[in-house]
Amino acid sequence: MIKDQDFIKNPNVPGPTKEEVRCIVICKSGVKPDDIVVDIGCGTGGLTLEFAKRAKTVYSIDINPDAIETTKQNLEKYGLTKNVEVIEGNGFEALDKIEKFDLLVIGGSGGKLPLLIEKGYNKLNNNGRIIVTAILLETCAEAISSLDKLSLKPDVVNVSISKGEISKRGTMMLARNPITIISAQKGI
Ligand code: SAH
Repeated sequence: MIKDQDFIKNPNVPGPTKEEVRCIVICKSGVKPDDIVVDIGCGTGGLTLEFAKRAKTVYSIDINPDAIETTKQNLEKYGLTKNVEVIEGNGFEALDKIEKFDLLVIGGSGGKLPLLIEKGYNKLNNNGRIIVTAILLETCAEAISSLDKLSLKPDVVNVSISKGEISKRGTMMLARNPITIISAQKGI
Protein backbone atom coordinates (compact mmCIF):
# COMPACT_ATOMS: atom_id res chain seq x y z
CA MET A 1 0.00 0.00 0.00
CA ILE A 2 1.17 3.50 -0.78
CA LYS A 3 1.60 5.63 2.35
CA ASP A 4 -0.92 8.48 2.76
CA GLN A 5 1.81 11.10 2.94
CA ASP A 6 3.40 9.89 -0.32
CA PHE A 7 0.47 10.99 -2.49
CA ILE A 8 0.66 14.34 -4.29
CA LYS A 9 -2.15 16.41 -2.76
CA ASN A 10 -4.30 19.31 -3.93
CA PRO A 11 -6.24 21.30 -1.29
CA ASN A 12 -9.35 21.27 -3.54
CA VAL A 13 -9.42 17.51 -3.83
CA PRO A 14 -10.50 15.01 -1.15
CA GLY A 15 -8.50 11.86 -0.46
CA PRO A 16 -6.51 9.81 -0.58
CA THR A 17 -8.64 7.19 1.15
CA LYS A 18 -6.55 6.35 4.23
CA GLU A 19 -4.08 3.50 3.88
CA GLU A 20 -5.81 1.12 6.30
CA VAL A 21 -9.18 1.77 4.65
CA ARG A 22 -7.62 1.11 1.23
CA CYS A 23 -6.43 -2.25 2.62
CA ILE A 24 -9.99 -3.21 3.55
CA VAL A 25 -11.45 -1.99 0.25
CA ILE A 26 -8.90 -3.99 -1.73
CA CYS A 27 -9.58 -7.13 0.36
CA LYS A 28 -13.35 -6.81 0.14
CA SER A 29 -13.20 -6.11 -3.60
CA GLY A 30 -11.57 -9.47 -4.30
CA VAL A 31 -9.80 -7.77 -7.24
CA LYS A 32 -8.12 -10.16 -9.68
CA PRO A 33 -5.43 -9.54 -12.33
CA ASP A 34 -7.93 -9.86 -15.22
CA ASP A 35 -10.47 -7.45 -13.77
CA ILE A 36 -11.75 -4.28 -15.36
CA VAL A 37 -12.39 -1.72 -12.62
CA VAL A 38 -14.41 1.51 -12.70
CA ASP A 39 -13.59 4.02 -9.95
CA ILE A 40 -16.23 6.75 -9.78
CA GLY A 41 -15.01 9.74 -7.77
CA CYS A 42 -11.30 9.00 -8.02
CA GLY A 43 -10.34 12.13 -6.03
CA THR A 44 -6.61 12.06 -5.29
CA GLY A 45 -6.31 8.61 -6.87
CA GLY A 46 -5.91 6.73 -3.59
CA LEU A 47 -8.01 3.77 -4.68
CA THR A 48 -7.29 4.12 -8.41
CA LEU A 49 -3.56 3.57 -7.82
CA GLU A 50 -4.12 0.50 -5.66
CA PHE A 51 -6.44 -1.03 -8.26
CA ALA A 52 -4.05 -0.11 -11.09
CA LYS A 53 -1.41 -2.28 -9.40
CA ARG A 54 -3.76 -5.27 -9.12
CA ALA A 55 -6.22 -5.19 -12.05
CA LYS A 56 -6.03 -5.32 -15.85
CA THR A 57 -7.68 -1.96 -16.60
CA VAL A 58 -8.98 0.89 -14.47
CA TYR A 59 -11.35 3.65 -15.60
CA SER A 60 -11.07 6.56 -13.16
CA ILE A 61 -13.79 9.16 -13.28
CA ASP A 62 -14.20 12.45 -11.45
CA ILE A 63 -16.37 15.48 -11.99
CA ASN A 64 -13.71 17.82 -10.56
CA PRO A 65 -10.95 18.75 -13.04
CA ASP A 66 -8.51 19.23 -10.15
CA ALA A 67 -9.13 15.64 -9.07
CA ILE A 68 -8.42 14.42 -12.61
CA GLU A 69 -5.14 16.35 -12.63
CA THR A 70 -4.14 15.09 -9.17
CA THR A 71 -4.95 11.47 -10.02
CA LYS A 72 -2.88 11.76 -13.20
CA GLN A 73 0.06 13.23 -11.26
CA ASN A 74 -0.06 10.37 -8.76
CA LEU A 75 -0.31 7.75 -11.51
CA GLU A 76 2.76 9.26 -13.14
CA LYS A 77 4.65 9.41 -9.85
CA TYR A 78 4.20 5.65 -9.44
CA GLY A 79 4.53 4.67 -13.13
CA LEU A 80 0.95 3.37 -13.24
CA THR A 81 -0.40 5.24 -16.26
CA LYS A 82 -0.40 2.29 -18.69
CA ASN A 83 -3.59 0.52 -17.66
CA VAL A 84 -5.59 3.50 -16.38
CA GLU A 85 -7.94 5.71 -18.38
CA VAL A 86 -8.78 8.90 -16.53
CA ILE A 87 -12.11 10.45 -17.52
CA GLU A 88 -13.32 13.90 -16.48
CA GLY A 89 -17.07 14.04 -16.02
CA ASN A 90 -20.12 12.88 -14.19
CA GLY A 91 -19.94 9.21 -13.26
CA PHE A 92 -23.45 8.55 -14.49
CA GLU A 93 -22.72 9.81 -18.00
CA ALA A 94 -19.18 8.42 -18.11
CA LEU A 95 -20.57 4.92 -17.57
CA ASP A 96 -22.08 5.11 -21.08
CA LYS A 97 -18.58 5.16 -22.57
CA ILE A 98 -17.50 1.97 -20.83
CA GLU A 99 -18.42 -1.57 -21.87
CA LYS A 100 -18.83 -4.32 -19.27
CA PHE A 101 -16.64 -4.40 -16.17
CA ASP A 102 -15.96 -6.55 -13.10
CA LEU A 103 -15.70 -4.07 -10.29
CA LEU A 104 -17.52 -0.80 -9.65
CA VAL A 105 -16.06 1.38 -6.90
CA ILE A 106 -18.08 4.43 -5.89
CA GLY A 107 -16.35 7.02 -3.71
CA GLY A 108 -18.44 10.01 -4.79
CA SER A 109 -21.81 10.27 -6.47
CA GLY A 110 -23.04 13.84 -6.07
CA GLY A 111 -26.46 12.72 -4.82
CA LYS A 112 -27.02 10.26 -7.65
CA LEU A 113 -26.04 7.07 -5.89
CA PRO A 114 -29.21 5.00 -6.59
CA LEU A 115 -29.00 5.82 -10.32
CA LEU A 116 -25.28 5.05 -10.41
CA ILE A 117 -25.74 1.71 -8.67
CA GLU A 118 -28.58 0.70 -10.99
CA LYS A 119 -26.74 1.68 -14.16
CA GLY A 120 -23.47 0.19 -12.92
CA TYR A 121 -25.18 -3.08 -11.98
CA ASN A 122 -26.48 -3.50 -15.54
CA LYS A 123 -22.96 -3.17 -16.91
CA LEU A 124 -21.39 -5.47 -14.35
CA ASN A 125 -20.21 -8.89 -15.51
CA ASN A 126 -21.70 -11.86 -13.71
CA ASN A 127 -19.96 -12.31 -10.33
CA GLY A 128 -18.91 -8.66 -10.60
CA ARG A 129 -18.78 -6.59 -7.44
CA ILE A 130 -19.93 -3.14 -6.33
CA ILE A 131 -18.15 -1.31 -3.51
CA VAL A 132 -19.34 1.96 -2.01
CA THR A 133 -17.23 3.91 0.47
CA ALA A 134 -19.45 6.23 2.50
CA ILE A 135 -18.76 8.89 5.09
CA LEU A 136 -22.40 10.00 5.38
CA LEU A 137 -25.12 7.92 7.05
CA GLU A 138 -27.49 8.92 4.25
CA THR A 139 -25.10 7.47 1.67
CA CYS A 140 -25.01 4.16 3.56
CA ALA A 141 -28.79 3.99 3.71
CA GLU A 142 -29.11 4.85 0.01
CA ALA A 143 -26.51 2.27 -0.97
CA ILE A 144 -28.16 -0.49 1.07
CA SER A 145 -31.67 0.23 -0.23
CA SER A 146 -30.45 0.53 -3.85
CA LEU A 147 -28.67 -2.82 -3.58
CA ASP A 148 -31.73 -4.34 -1.94
CA LYS A 149 -33.86 -3.28 -4.93
CA LEU A 150 -31.47 -5.30 -7.08
CA SER A 151 -31.89 -8.25 -4.67
CA LEU A 152 -28.28 -7.94 -3.56
CA LYS A 153 -27.37 -8.56 0.08
CA PRO A 154 -24.50 -6.24 0.89
CA ASP A 155 -21.66 -6.76 3.31
CA VAL A 156 -21.58 -3.60 5.45
CA VAL A 157 -18.50 -2.73 7.50
CA ASN A 158 -17.92 0.43 9.49
CA VAL A 159 -14.35 1.13 10.52
CA SER A 160 -12.85 3.71 12.82
CA ILE A 161 -9.09 3.73 12.51
CA SER A 162 -6.86 5.32 15.11
CA LYS A 163 -3.20 5.79 14.34
CA GLY A 164 -0.40 6.14 16.83
CA GLU A 165 1.55 9.37 16.89
CA ILE A 166 4.84 8.79 18.61
CA SER A 167 6.21 11.56 20.81
CA LYS A 168 8.71 11.76 23.65
CA ARG A 169 5.91 11.17 26.17
CA GLY A 170 4.59 8.09 24.42
CA THR A 171 2.34 6.98 21.61
CA MET A 172 -0.90 8.87 21.34
CA MET A 173 -3.72 7.32 19.33
CA LEU A 174 -5.29 9.86 16.99
CA ALA A 175 -8.79 9.00 15.73
CA ARG A 176 -9.79 9.28 12.10
CA ASN A 177 -13.29 9.68 10.74
CA PRO A 178 -15.33 6.49 10.61
CA ILE A 179 -16.05 5.19 7.13
CA THR A 180 -18.49 2.56 5.93
CA ILE A 181 -17.57 0.09 3.21
CA ILE A 182 -20.55 -1.51 1.50
CA SER A 183 -19.88 -4.32 -0.91
CA ALA A 184 -22.05 -6.70 -2.91
CA GLN A 185 -21.60 -9.31 -5.60
CA LYS A 186 -23.79 -9.79 -8.66
CA GLY A 187 -25.20 -13.25 -9.08
CA ILE A 188 -24.79 -14.34 -5.47
N1 SAH B 1 -11.42 7.52 -3.37
C1 SAH B 1 -10.75 8.80 -3.53
C2 SAH B 1 -11.42 9.92 -2.78
C3 SAH B 1 -12.83 10.17 -3.24
S1 SAH B 1 -13.48 11.72 -2.73
C4 SAH B 1 -9.27 8.66 -3.11
O1 SAH B 1 -8.90 7.64 -2.52
O2 SAH B 1 -8.47 9.55 -3.40
C5 SAH B 1 -14.93 11.79 -3.69
C6 SAH B 1 -14.76 12.31 -5.13
O3 SAH B 1 -15.98 12.07 -5.82
C7 SAH B 1 -14.48 13.81 -5.24
O4 SAH B 1 -13.25 14.04 -5.88
C8 SAH B 1 -15.67 14.33 -6.08
O5 SAH B 1 -15.29 15.33 -7.02
C9 SAH B 1 -16.13 13.08 -6.79
N2 SAH B 1 -17.53 13.07 -7.26
C10 SAH B 1 -18.63 13.46 -6.56
N3 SAH B 1 -19.74 13.29 -7.31
C11 SAH B 1 -19.34 12.76 -8.51
C12 SAH B 1 -20.03 12.36 -9.69
N4 SAH B 1 -21.35 12.45 -9.81
N5 SAH B 1 -19.30 11.86 -10.72
C13 SAH B 1 -17.96 11.77 -10.62
N6 SAH B 1 -17.26 12.14 -9.52
C14 SAH B 1 -17.93 12.63 -8.48
